[in-house]
Amino acid sequence: MTSGDITGAQLQWPDLPAAQQPEWPQDGSVERVRETLAALPPLVFAGECDVLKSRLADAARGEAFLLQGGDCAEMFESATADNIRDRIRTLLQMAAVLTYGASTPVIKVGRIAGQFAKPRSKNTETRGDVTLPAFRGDIVNDFAFTPEARRPDPERLLRAYHTSASTLNLVRAFTTGGFADLRRVHEWNRGFIANSAYARYESMARDIDNAMKFMTACGVDFESTPLSAVELFSSHEALLLDYEQPLTRIDSRTGDAYAVSGHFVWVGERTRQLDGAHLDYVSRIKNPVGVKVGPDADPDEILRIIDQVDPEREPGRLTFITRMGAGKIRERLPRLVEKVTESGAPAVWVCDPMHGNTFESASGYKTREFDDVVDEVRGFFEVHGSLGTIPGGIHVELTGNDVTECLGGSEKILDADLATRYESACDPRLNHQQSLELSFLVAEMLSAR
Ligand code: PEP
Ligand code: MN
Repeated sequence: MTSGDITGAQLQWPDLPAAQQPEWPQDGSVERVRETLAALPPLVFAGECDVLKSRLADAARGEAFLLQGGDCAEMFESATADNIRDRIRTLLQMAAVLTYGASTPVIKVGRIAGQFAKPRSKNTETRGDVTLPAFRGDIVNDFAFTPEARRPDPERLLRAYHTSASTLNLVRAFTTGGFADLRRVHEWNRGFIANSAYARYESMARDIDNAMKFMTACGVDFESTPLSAVELFSSHEALLLDYEQPLTRIDSRTGDAYAVSGHFVWVGERTRQLDGAHLDYVSRIKNPVGVKVGPDADPDEILRIIDQVDPEREPGRLTFITRMGAGKIRERLPRLVEKVTESGAPAVWVCDPMHGNTFESASGYKTREFDDVVDEVRGFFEVHGSLGTIPGGIHVELTGNDVTECLGGSEKILDADLATRYESACDPRLNHQQSLELSFLVAEMLSAR
């Protein structure tokens, strides 16, 4: 990959409006930081992005299923070895449940190593009689509610890059260094207190063990099969163009441009304007890309997005991540899927059951009901089932920790419990147990597909 040469002619959107960008200080500092970023090594390689694209093409055909998950907003201070390990372990456990329960290959993609920038519904936040710039993610400003903390600081772009690099380094070590070996499927569960989700997982892990013993006895050599290493890809919302543009490079094999900030990037519901900079950006890179789609999306607009982002109709290139809300998905999703299917475009359909189900609890926390999350996924499977189309995956906000951010689940987290351990700086995440429970339920839906 050649570096830093993409700021020339090929990738420019000087006249296109870019929504949700911070107001950086006008002192040349962001330009300097962009130059520094442009000279830093890529975080991922084009060839890896191509592999993910071909896996997503499998998902579009119903031959694999995407599990995409992680924090709403990664935080610099939370990028510790323990937190990263626990998030990876959660994804691996969920993937084991889905793979085993539905006999389907699972494509594992983290909202990880770059998920630092947040779109906001308001530019400012008011507490009492103080109004300050909104928190836009650690890559822009600090969560603390003081004028200094909330001032956008371009140096944070560099810290986001280095935090992503060290996170990805550990992800690569965990996924290739033995931790992800399926023969450790029991160990991933160790340390969790007994309850229904963990007991169910333990019993499934015993079945997997037995199946592997059986196959070993039959002569399958697990030492030389790729069980000890798993593929885990990185993804984030391509929101902040001052980060993405200098981390866009030309692949020396092909001369094509790739985002090298992550394997998969998506454009959010709030920045997917047809004449906007974000769709223009992703249409110029070769990575597999996603576009979030809310309940009010117009089917013709979706077709125009396909024309712009995937004019070649390349399998695996474009994923629609629908986030409709449990109450709307059964009514709103069918017309979009029908229109796209009629057009012949090979889109991957993925369900984000989080963002359409957010509300403020009586005690004032931003939260989600576990049952609504499950119901939206159920509606997603029902719609695709009745249209004869493919439900290609789920996209969830989760953590490996025992936080109390979403209500319900078999632990029955109540509004009064939210204060116990509410740690998200942005949207509420499923905790470890809720994530496992969701994966058992989705495995049932998937095996009935
Ligand atoms: C998100 O994924 O955290 C997000 C902001 O999603 P959406 O684009 O659906 O609002
Ligand atoms: Mn979110």
